[in-house]
Amino acid sequence: MTTWFISDLHLSAQRPAVTQAFLHWLKLSVHADDTLYILGDFLDVWVGDDVLDDASQAPLFAPIVQGLRALTAQGVSIFLMHGNRDFLIGEGFAHACGVQLLEDPTLINVAGKRVLLTHGDALCTDDVEYQAFRRQVRQPAWQHTFLSQSLAARMAFAAKARDQSRANKATQSAQIMDVHADAVAALMRQHAYPDVLLHGHTHRPAEHLGQVDGHPYQRVVLGDWHATAVVGKVEQDTLSLQTLSLTPRD
Ligand code: MN
Repeated sequence: MTTWFISDLHLSAQRPAVTQAFLHWLKLSVHADDTLYILGDFLDVWVGDDVLDDASQAPLFAPIVQGLRALTAQGVSIFLMHGNRDFLIGEGFAHACGVQLLEDPTLINVAGKRVLLTHGDALCTDDVEYQAFRRQVRQPAWQHTFLSQSLAARMAFAAKARDQSRANKATQSAQIMDVHADAVAALMRQHAYPDVLLHGHTHRPAEHLGQVDGHPYQRVVLGDWHATAVVGKVEQDTLSLQTLSLTPRD
């Protein structure tokens, strides 16, 4: 009975090897009594659940949906939290995969600890421009208007947003792109000082020790998926990071 935490796979048609490696890992490592938490940016881009009905997108998404469905049908609990790339994943996609959407943040009990799960983008408060974008696109009215556009128009918007985000990343300092200590402290206070804060987004896997108002906590950061992936694993009541080698068909 293992609890897994993964994030930032950024699955896309551009990197089919990562999708293959993920599906291979799912089959090999995640067993029927396990729980899997996917903490955002599972997909590199998602412009609406009707993408599943688009024949041109099927080669990428059909195997992903089938892979998740195969596990959830066996009784694996899979929870999916939105990231900054795939925040438009809706009940249609979740239902097709048999996964349960998870609010950001969500507090769970695991390994005898209170663990607060979040994607992590909301903590990067130094990136003022991004936080303004985030507030806009998380509004139900914005999403409703966006989802009423044609698939082609939505995909064009997503490509533009991705280019902007890349350009932004190239010019912003490393500090601006990381979580802000004040934002972490505020979140820990709001949730009555959990033992662990677990997130992804920054692609800087690490285990940090910190303190807020005299309450010690651990901040566990998951890694992204390229040649290797850094995932969280709870086994025998111990939470640790594990580096996976993603060589295809090992
Ligand atoms: Mn992210």
